[in-house]
Amino acid sequence: MSIIEFTDRGIYCPAGDFYVDPWRPVARAVITHAHADHARFGHDAYLATPISAAVMRHRLGDIRIDTQPFGTPRQIGGARVSFHPAGHVPGSAQIRIDVGGQIAVISGDYKLEQDGLSQPFEPLRCHSFVSECTFGLPAFRWPNAQDTFAAMAQWQADNRTEGKLSILTAYGLGKAQRLIQGLAPLGLPIFTHAAVENTNEILRNCGVDVPATHRLDTRSPTDDLPAGIIIAPPAAADSAALRKLGPCRVGFASGWMALRGIRRRRGVDRGFVMSDHADWPALNTAIAATGAQNVYVTHGYTEVFSKWLNDAGYNASVVPTEFGGDEDTE
Ligand SMILES: [Zn+2]
Ligand SMILES: [Zn+2]
Repeated sequence: MSIIEFTDRGIYCPAGDFYVDPWRPVARAVITHAHADHARFGHDAYLATPISAAVMRHRLGDIRIDTQPFGTPRQIGGARVSFHPAGHVPGSAQIRIDVGGQIAVISGDYKLEQDGLSQPFEPLRCHSFVSECTFGLPAFRWPNAQDTFAAMAQWQADNRTEGKLSILTAYGLGKAQRLIQGLAPLGLPIFTHAAVENTNEILRNCGVDVPATHRLDTRSPTDDLPAGIIIAPPAAADSAALRKLGPCRVGFASGWMALRGIRRRRGVDRGFVMSDHADWPALNTAIAATGAQNVYVTHGYTEVFSKWLNDAGYNASVVPTEFGGDEDTE
């Protein structure tokens, strides 16, 4: 019996009779992080880190959820299960499963770059590693984040000179707080759309040090909006409420902005390359550090990436999943 199996409901651990990030309803779901494609509605019972659980309660309502902090193992049937930081967004975990000394790690989504808010990625030794490869092509190499924050501040200054508001769009859990964390020290007031600010409040209540922000009131906007940056989810950028605030420029922060043509298709004025996922060098570094012989790749450039890994001497295969949300898909 293998430690994990890949089923049409999700990644299954027979020894513990639970699923990791299942996409169809199951009795027991162990959740890597609170993004919608990994933490879905409809399971009988959930297990997640305290931060993920807080976000999931907000999003999914009255669910039966138990929490487990990083690094503390618990026995589930014949499996010893522990959560370890994945560095993707605050609360995001890799799930380590030990069955009789055979170890599998399911990384969910991850990044190695430290963002100052998410608990830094922890390399784990294992026999089998399940990796995303959202950005599993050599073309994806992230620029230095401080340079990108400086470019955002310059963009804001230019917009202000031209009498335009700066609206920066980013996913509400993870990316938005990373932008706030990077831009606040540059002295810019940060105005947040309700969807972003609600998540900020949940994270602050969990002890995550999200810098102070101003909740945007679109009905009675303050005069100092042009002096700052408005952070909103991508879906809100076209909303009448935001457009009514006045002439504006819209920027988008995503790993996909590294690809030509996508910015234009998204209809944004300016793209900034910044991702909550591992880029090509980081994927390779992370996988090498596991010492795993078996590597299973999930969402992203799976075919190309698994071929690359097989050529590099790993036993790699593609696992069909139904992940893909936030920044995972384009
Ligand atoms: Zn994610
Ligand atoms: Zn994902």
